[in-house]
Amino acid sequence: MNHREAHAVVLGAGLAGLVHAVPLATRFDRVTLVDRDILPRGAEHRGGVPQGHHVHLLVPGGVTRMEALLPGAVAEIAARGGYLIPAPEWRFHMGGDQLRLEDDSLRVAGATRPLLEAVVRDRALAMEGVELLDGWTARELTTTDDRTCVTGVRLRSQADPDEHLTLDADLIVDTTGRGSPSPRWLTALGYESPKEERLQVDVHYATRLFRRDPGDLGGCRHVLVDVPPDDRRGGVALAVEDDRWQVTLIGMLGERPPTELDGFTQYAASLWSDDLHQIIDGATPLDEGAQRAFPSFSWQRYDQLASLPQRYLVSGDAVCSFDPRFGQGMTVAMAEAAALGEILDQHGLDDIGRRVLSASQPVVQDAWDLATGADLAHPEVQGPRPLPWKLNTAYMQRLLPVAHREPEVAAALIRVVGMIDRPQQLMSPRTLWRVLRDGRAPETTSAETHATTRA
Ligand SMILES: Cc1cc2nc3c(=O)[nH]c(=O)nc-3n(C[C@H](O)[C@H](O)[C@H](O)COP(=O)(O)OP(=O)(O)OC[C@H]3O[C@@H](n4cnc5c(N)ncnc54)[C@H](O)[C@@H]3O)c2cc1C
Repeated sequence: MNHREAHAVVLGAGLAGLVHAVPLATRFDRVTLVDRDILPRGAEHRGGVPQGHHVHLLVPGGVTRMEALLPGAVAEIAARGGYLIPAPEWRFHMGGDQLRLEDDSLRVAGATRPLLEAVVRDRALAMEGVELLDGWTARELTTTDDRTCVTGVRLRSQADPDEHLTLDADLIVDTTGRGSPSPRWLTALGYESPKEERLQVDVHYATRLFRRDPGDLGGCRHVLVDVPPDDRRGGVALAVEDDRWQVTLIGMLGERPPTELDGFTQYAASLWSDDLHQIIDGATPLDEGAQRAFPSFSWQRYDQLASLPQRYLVSGDAVCSFDPRFGQGMTVAMAEAAALGEILDQHGLDDIGRRVLSASQPVVQDAWDLATGADLAHPEVQGPRPLPWKLNTAYMQRLLPVAHREPEVAAALIRVVGMIDRPQQLMSPRTLWRVLRDGRAPETTSAETHATTRA
């Protein structure tokens, strides 16, 4: 932009709202972050982010995007007690065996969601011109008389429902998450509301915290036990701040992991890899646990709408919420925030909403395809399975056994699922050649054997 705009308002100060405030802060005189919650001042849980009790993995592509957006933030996560965990310290059980992970340039952040959010929030709010208006709910947009351009937002106080406030703005960004009022607002203004793509997965989560001994699992700090296509159970463990393990057990297609300690331990013991059970068994539990259901994930296709009001953008989970098993949401939100900055520099506010949605569409599409592709491998998940999906699934079945043996192929896989590389990189001549040379159609996996034994 060749001039600074006056005022941007970001609705929702979750992870997406906070990271969107960052590129706005250097391009607007004032940025107001609005949230209906009263936000904590430290790394604490809050009602508006109920998913915050469960493992929140900042995948390798998220680590690099966070560092680009907020230099120093990743180091601060570590300085505030979290970890940066390189791939040789992970144990990833996928496709019936453990991936051979040796590339220490691939790192995840070992921190709870409240810590991640606090680090980003503190940095975003410290930027010049950024202010927080918490305890206010966004109720309605204001527009020009012809409704072609958004001019502000009406808010209602959470403390006193009779108290209202109108904020005038040169740009409104809606990052209010899955329950976003934008489809309703658009309809009320005479616009089409977005079509929704949805995949029903009926996932349930149970999470508990345990004391962590640095010698646990030989110093490993991150474990993933994938849910095999013929099973419904999996889990993940992450070393988080204050020498704790955060362990999330996952059930798909209606399977519900319990939170109560004995049931939690037995569920972990029923997985096809024993690593999570080994962590939990005998460890000191530090909380009572939390549960959460995630029936479906959905993509609101704002990018396909014929028109959107000017000076208005919808982003983050308000556009697309992904199957949490794949740890993509925060990383996609950072990619969207980066796109917002680039589009503002190239085009100013002209058609900002549609331009940013279109620029971030490929990263959303990649994340969506990755998660839906894996979920559709479960025969009971309802959804279309076109030829490209079948070819891709067959290719992955050949690739995984190679990734169990060859560190370079394992790293290529992690670079894709970790959102550094685009999925087509798995077809690069080098990887393709290795897969075709060394891959073979899978025999019965240990996972299948385990599931059969349990049944
Ligand atoms: C169980 C679970 C596990 C997950 N694990 C991971 C993971 O491992 N890695 C990962 O990257 N992602 C994960 N995610 C996804 C991740 O939580 C989100 O993608 C990410 O937080 C971005 O969300 P958001 O900010 O768009 O929305 P939200 O986190 O839902 O935040 C929305 C904000 O808007 C506020 N708000 C809502 N309505 C209004 C209103 N009308 N007015 C004002 N304020 C409002 C809310 O209080 C909240 O602060 C997980 C999600 C779930 C459900």
